[in-house]
Amino acid sequence: MTLSVTDQDSTDQNGTAEVRHLIGNEWRTASDGATFESRDPHDGALLARVARGTVDDGVAAIDSARTAFDDGPWPQMSPKERAAILHAVADAVDEHREELAQLETRDGGKTITQSLHAEIPRVAHNLRFFADYVSMAANEAYPDGDLLSYVLYPPAGVVSAISPWNAPLMLATWKIAPALAFGNTVVLKPAPQTPLTANRFAQIALEAGLPPGVLNVVHGFGGEAVAGPLTSDPRVDRITFTGSSATGVKILQAAAANHTPVSAEMGGKSANIVFADADLDVAVPMSLRAIFGGNGQVCLSGSRLLVQNSIREEFIDRFAEEARKLVVGDPKDPTTFMGPLIEQRHLDKVHSYVELAQDEGGKIITGGERLTDPDRAGGFYYPPTVITGLTNDSRTAREEIFGPVETVLGFDTEEEALRITNDSPYGLAGILFTQNLDRAHRMAARWKAGTVWINTFFERDLRLPFGGEGISGLGREGGQYSREFFTEPRAVTLRI
Ligand code: NAD
Repeated sequence: MTLSVTDQDSTDQNGTAEVRHLIGNEWRTASDGATFESRDPHDGALLARVARGTVDDGVAAIDSARTAFDDGPWPQMSPKERAAILHAVADAVDEHREELAQLETRDGGKTITQSLHAEIPRVAHNLRFFADYVSMAANEAYPDGDLLSYVLYPPAGVVSAISPWNAPLMLATWKIAPALAFGNTVVLKPAPQTPLTANRFAQIALEAGLPPGVLNVVHGFGGEAVAGPLTSDPRVDRITFTGSSATGVKILQAAAANHTPVSAEMGGKSANIVFADADLDVAVPMSLRAIFGGNGQVCLSGSRLLVQNSIREEFIDRFAEEARKLVVGDPKDPTTFMGPLIEQRHLDKVHSYVELAQDEGGKIITGGERLTDPDRAGGFYYPPTVITGLTNDSRTAREEIFGPVETVLGFDTEEEALRITNDSPYGLAGILFTQNLDRAHRMAARWKAGTVWINTFFERDLRLPFGGEGISGLGREGGQYSREFFTEPRAVTLRI
């Protein structure tokens, strides 16, 4: 398949796609011409050479977004006018669904089933939801005698959006869609591991009528490189970041110098609790999906599996048996359940935790070694891995592995389950399987997590707050929470 990732002509003499920045209406190389490679994690094939953004590139992108905000039509349009354009972009995403899904799968190793049926459809949904939300959201007005007060929600200005590699376009548009719908302009920096779909999306958006400069895309790395200005330039009004908790701290530090508000969605080490009264025909497959779906490279993964001791042996047997049956292989094959991990460095990290787990006294029930048979030797393949025999104070149980590694812990009582669950620096999500709904409500009320799923997993209603406690997050996005963040709410009071 030919990869079309920027303007149609951008391939080098060998036919390799070139991914450039989009700044204003121009596809630009890095200011110093430097590039880095994007490779397929399935077989190492070179997919594209990508502009390695410099500080100057970051500044140029902010110039472009600033001009589009200060002088352009976008913030002045009515919500309905902006919504019409965002709906056109969503329609164009639907038309290019197959192509975007193939790009996502080759760039990041996500299974084609997931890309085609979940992630790219969600991209279009993100756009439509926020396009409509701006007009449909309830507004406040407070008549009080001869005073009438109400609230305006003008856009905040220029938004830096910094996204990770594990759900590239879905998470990028989770930021871009509300930012644009509320009238802001955006500079997006996708993760360097997965640059392709952001560019294709930006091209599609321009063609669908998004005015130039409203969405700018720069590629490259964090810190001193292109992402520096995105977090430290005083002309940036909001920073929305999804990534690791360690990077989040650096971004918060950079943003503090200018008092720039940051919304940060970060790592997780979520508990998945199974009580003896759970319907195991539901709990086993959902728990498998909660850790091995997306290869465990999902912030919301249920990576600490707490099973009530009375059913622990039975549950682990069933869980491990089903884990062994999961198909790990070429993500382009629709029968594959788990593709490769994103890159060698990440595979090394995941495996180092499996070794650590053994040093900490853990027992590997299944998995635990890289897959090196001929079909998978060229990629970063790791099997579903289940570890028992550890306690919640082990590093394996406390630190985010971000791979297909499940740590199984036991508990006796509800109180003990809650204590173990909440004894974590993270607080992103929680999953609970029980048929006792009194218990479910009790536990949800005391769970340290931004989201709790009961007898289900991964359902998302975009009106709900999304984010985390502890080192998992700062602030919430979704529905009215996105409005709070991407606007400058203004109180107006008049005497009538
Ligand atoms: P990462 O923190 O390494 O990188 C995320 C993004 O930040 C990338 O675009 C990267 O280039 C950029 N970056 C790195 N250093 C920077 C700096 N100093 N300044 C500005 N930008 C910088 O994370 P990752 O490895 O790409 O993603 C995996 C992590 O993301 C995991 O911890 C996962 O849990 C988390 N995540 C969280 C959510 C959520 O919604 N809470 C969703 C997905 C992923």
